[in-house]
Amino acid sequence: MRNVGVGLLAALLATLAALSLADQEPKTARAGFGVAGSRYRPALVSRYGAVASASPDASAAGISVLADGGNAVDAAVATVFAVGVAAQESCGIGGGGFLLYRGADGTEAVLDFRETAPAALPANFETAPRRFRGSGHQVVGVPGTVAGMAGVAQRFGTRPLDRLLRPAIALAERGLRLSPLQVEVLQGERERLNSYDEARRLYLDNGAVPAAFPIGRERPQPDLARTLQTLADQGPQAFYQGTIAAAIIAEMERSRTAGAPEGERGVMTVEDLASYEPIWREPLRGRYHRRTILAVPPPTAGGVIVLQVLNLLEEFPLGENRFFRHGAVNHLHVLAEAKKIAVADRNAYVADPAYVDVPTEQLIADDYARTRRADIDRDKAKDPSPGNFPGFTPRPPGGGARPGASTHHVSAVDAAGNAVSVTCSNEQRYGSGVVVPGTGILLNNQLTDFDEPGSANEARPGKRPRSNMSPVIVVEDGRPALVLGAPGGPRIPMGVASVISNVIDYGMDPALAVDVARLDSEKCCTVELEQGRVLPAQRQELTRRGHTITDRGEYHPQFTPLVQVTGIRPDGLRFSVSDPRYDRGTAVL
Ligand code: GLU
Repeated sequence: MRNVGVGLLAALLATLAALSLADQEPKTARAGFGVAGSRYRPALVSRYGAVASASPDASAAGISVLADGGNAVDAAVATVFAVGVAAQESCGIGGGGFLLYRGADGTEAVLDFRETAPAALPANFETAPRRFRGSGHQVVGVPGTVAGMAGVAQRFGTRPLDRLLRPAIALAERGLRLSPLQVEVLQGERERLNSYDEARRLYLDNGAVPAAFPIGRERPQPDLARTLQTLADQGPQAFYQGTIAAAIIAEMERSRTAGAPEGERGVMTVEDLASYEPIWREPLRGRYHRRTILAVPPPTAGGVIVLQVLNLLEEFPLGENRFFRHGAVNHLHVLAEAKKIAVADRNAYVADPAYVDVPTEQLIADDYARTRRADIDRDKAKDPSPGNFPGFTPRPPGGGARPGASTHHVSAVDAAGNAVSVTCSNEQRYGSGVVVPGTGILLNNQLTDFDEPGSANEARPGKRPRSNMSPVIVVEDGRPALVLGAPGGPRIPMGVASVISNVIDYGMDPALAVDVARLDSEKCCTVELEQGRVLPAQRQELTRRGHTITDRGEYHPQFTPLVQVTGIRPDGLRFSVSDPRYDRGTAVL
């Protein structure tokens, strides 16, 4: 008996030793999954509803609203407000974004709550000295999150706004500990935040980055809790016309009188805030292998790019033979070439449609993809030009957005079959660095998404800067099969399109589709590749075809996009998947 016990103990120790060795194993080439080192984790499933985000606390807030009888819209709104507390480096009430809704009855809608440029935006905005540092008051767009969340809750939700703010208020009062990845993010922004008194007071400990969970202390946010309570008591107008608006504008004025450098002086006025409106838009519709793809139209380029890339991919036999198996060089090559075509078109044509005529329908047409298919050389990386569309003039490309990694995506589905896909953003992590004193409101720096003068996306007063955010819903047999999106700036559309293709072309379950190695390409002829899981032979062949590989390792937390997915499976179960490259906020009811 004793011998059996010793034997068992020895076997257990041997297993533990093997496991810890496996942990330390160098990350060598792997085709993908189900092997040592993989972070693949199956989706959470339930019959009643699901939420996905990159914050466990925020997703839990959404689930609490579902449990209370709220629908997917209520859950998404509560989750977004909670993100503004639990992951405020990414998005909050000082930011803006885009929302895509599909009701169980088939109703479809987009709400654009993107930030707008103030009316007094200076003519030299693009060249003002501090502009490219992305900090300070002048790069702050009029925030849209409060109006957006209130607008969608009123139209499609079932709960009053104060109920949807409650979990966020509780989180702000209680305070949260930072995750190790959040501490890493804060380390990257420490120097910048140190130069703004209020940010320094709220986010740092005497100028140093606080410790992560489980050592770090909980950090209550009483100012933010009070502001959210004011919104709950007085409604969204408090933000745009009331006491909160007054505090925001007082801070803008202070920046002008306190001797801030010219490029850092705030220009937002009472009128800018009072006239802010989120805009209801028609979703873009595409088809991919007989599924309907719903996406968001400009001023984000995200929806256009996702549909363009998918249209181009459909021209190739992905997953149909071994030459186009997942991760094969043909697969990687076609992804890179398709994205570059869409990027060339984005840079030449896509911007705020209130200021520029955008050939949106032409860009996402199947016929157009067929003509561009001819521009993809199977053997050689190319530098594509933008397409030509009668009546539309291609504009010179701007410098393009930076591949930031702020922003937060939230996906939600409920028991009835309603679905919401919403991305909200501060632009850069910790936005402009400016916190409105006494309110806990961290202001965005979304106006850095404008491009150089002369480009379609040049800065103009009242204009919304072009985005790459890509909330998408894939509809199959009448149900929202994939409800997804991501942060990650210009890398977002490729992350979203890849996950859709991985599911549809390669038959992966959504968790695996999110987990596998990714590629992106913005410019000829560089590809960013999570090459830790791509075979050396494929990498060599990619190089031979003219691509220069930038190594993004494996599961690199800074290599966004961080794709969040919910949806309804054919068996009716709702699922939640969160990208393993960052904190996972998977939650089901
Ligand atoms: N400002 C970016 C955009 O609108 C988002 C940045 C990010 O995703 O990190 O596309």
